Amino acid sequence: MKVQYSLIVGLLLLLVHAAVGQSRYVLVIHGGAGTILKENITPQQEAAFRAALTDALLAGYSAIKTGKNSLDAVEAAIVLMEDNPLFNAGKGAVFTHEGKNELDAAIMWGPTRDAGAVAGVTTIRNPIRAARAVLERSEHVMLTGKGAEAFAASMGLQTADPSYFRTESRWQALQRALERDSLNSVLDHDGHKQSSAYPPYRDEKYGTVGAVALDEAGNLAAGTSTGGMTNKRFGRIGDAPIIGAGTYANEQVAVSCTGWGEFFIRSTAAYDVAAQMKYGRLPLAEAASNVIRKIGELGGDGGLIALDKDGNIAMPFNTSGMYRGAITESGEITIEIYR
Ligand code: ASP
Repeated sequence: MKVQYSLIVGLLLLLVHAAVGQSRYVLVIHGGAGTILKENITPQQEAAFRAALTDALLAGYSAIKTGKNSLDAVEAAIVLMEDNPLFNAGKGAVFTHEGKNELDAAIMWGPTRDAGAVAGVTTIRNPIRAARAVLERSEHVMLTGKGAEAFAASMGLQTADPSYFRTESRWQALQRALERDSLNSVLDHDGHKQSSAYPPYRDEKYGTVGAVALDEAGNLAAGTSTGGMTNKRFGRIGDAPIIGAGTYANEQVAVSCTGWGEFFIRSTAAYDVAAQMKYGRLPLAEAASNVIRKIGELGGDGGLIALDKDGNIAMPFNTSGMYRGAITESGEITIEIYR
């Protein structure tokens, strides 16, 4: 009787363990936060976003399931989103004030905190691959502009003519921003002219992409890729390629942010999630939502995705929406867009 009882308890424990294991998240992605309202999106557009997010999740998931590490999963998911003009990264990136596409990306490997980033690049087809090459094949963490492009070419990464990144809808967004600037200049004739071209035009939504992953060996990684903000100028770099601001991973948590970059830089947002967990011993959800609340208090907006070593996730944002998705160890997918 006694033996039977412990057998049953043992079996139950096994079942619970399996069920918990199955519901552990292994990959979370975002496609930007912002003014994303159901009434402004057609069912076709929504379906396209859902399909793109699903494809990116499956690409990262299959990397993990075939024994690759979380860095591979992050890269695979982000490359697909960089190639998709729906997102503000790679093809479909927003335009600078001068009418160029200048791209930023970073990737970080939690176990050793190795990191790589590129900023202000215009001819690298997949900036996240260049960031990874910086991480693995250079002794530096961040390369910018022409130097980053020369490095990527020397590593044999695929280049692209700057015109490859152009999409008509992003070009029109720049035209609206420029028009708004010139209207401001006309209106501000009384000498109290605010810096109309700066902060950069907040193009209704931030379309940056990011991914955080947990592989079968328990290693975390994070990555983020973006065209930045429409109408940015003077070589402005956002939070995405700055380790600790828009991207961060250690042994305990991986984080990728999207939003008004200046506020995420000033808040060392991604690292603050990790720090609150490490030093304040806060659970992931609380640490992540604290960071977004504080960004709101400073006047900024956006969101983040975070995944901890136990497979818990958090996806807080203070905008009306954030394109986001997650996949569990057993392959169950969740995609959400609105609040
Ligand atoms: N955080 C990005 C930046 O400021 C923008 C975004 O999230 O879309 O460059």
